Amino acid sequence: RSSCRFFVGGNWKCNGTVESLKKLVDELNSAKLEEDVDIVVSPPYLYISQVLGSLTKRIEVAAQNCWTGKGGAFTGEISADQLVDGGVKWVIQGHSERRHVIGETDAMIGQKSAYALSKNLGVIACVGEKLEDREANRTTDVVFEQLQAYADAVSDWSNIVVAYEPVWAIGTGKVASPQQAQEVHAAIRQWLKEKISPEVSSKTRIIYGGSVNGANSAELATQEDIDGFLVGGAALKGLEFATICNAVT
Ligand code: PEP
Repeated sequence: RSSCRFFVGGNWKCNGTVESLKKLVDELNSAKLEEDVDIVVSPPYLYISQVLGSLTKRIEVAAQNCWTGKGGAFTGEISADQLVDGGVKWVIQGHSERRHVIGETDAMIGQKSAYALSKNLGVIACVGEKLEDREANRTTDVVFEQLQAYADAVSDWSNIVVAYEPVWAIGTGKVASPQQAQEVHAAIRQWLKEKISPEVSSKTRIIYGGSVNGANSAELATQEDIDGFLVGGAALKGLEFATICNAVT
C-alpha cells in the first residue's frame, strides 16, 4: 500500500451536548489507539474548547469550517486566526453538506482553504461526486474539477489531506466498495502527479469517507491508495471510532 501515514478524522457534524461529548471524550481517552495513525476529531465550534480541555493530546482537533479570510464584521463566522488562537490544528473544507446543503462554491472553498493554510492549519480537503454524476460516468470529471479549485487557490500541498467522499455514500449506510473507492483514490493520486507534482502525489494522504464503520474499515484499509478515513456517524461512538482508527494493516 502507499507509504503515507494513516489518517483518521471523526466529523461530529452538528451533533452533541456538553454531556454527550463529555462521555465521548472519556471513551476516546480510554481507548487503545495504534501508534501509526494520525487522529483528529471535529466537534461543533461551541464545544471545541471543552474538547480541547479534556481530550487526550494523542488526538488533535479540527474545525468543521472557517471564514474565507481575516475576521471582522462577518456575523456568525469564525476565522482561521481564531481557530489557531483556540488551539485548533485542522479544518475540514468543502464537505458535501457545506457544498450541497449550505451552497458553498468551489471558489469559496478554495479561498477558505488557502487562508487556513496561510495560518498553518492543516486542511482536510473534501471532494466527491453525487449519485447522478456517478450514474452519468462523470465521477472523475467532478472530482478533478473540485481538486482543480483547490489547486487554483493553494500553492503548498504539504498540509493538505484529501478526503474522497462520494455524496451518495455519506450518511446513507451505502459504503463504496473497496474497489470503487480504490479506483477513485488511484485517479486522484494520478491527477496530483500530473497537475501538481510526483512528490505531492506520493506524500498526500487520500482518505475515504462515506458510511465507514467498525465492520467495513479493515477491508477498505487494505486498498493501495486508501490512506485513512473521514468518519461521520460512527465517529460518535468512541469504541467504534477507535476500531476504525486501528484498521490500518
Ligand atoms: C462525513 O460526514 O464525512 C461522513 C463520511 O459521514 P458518514 O460516515 O456518516 O457517512
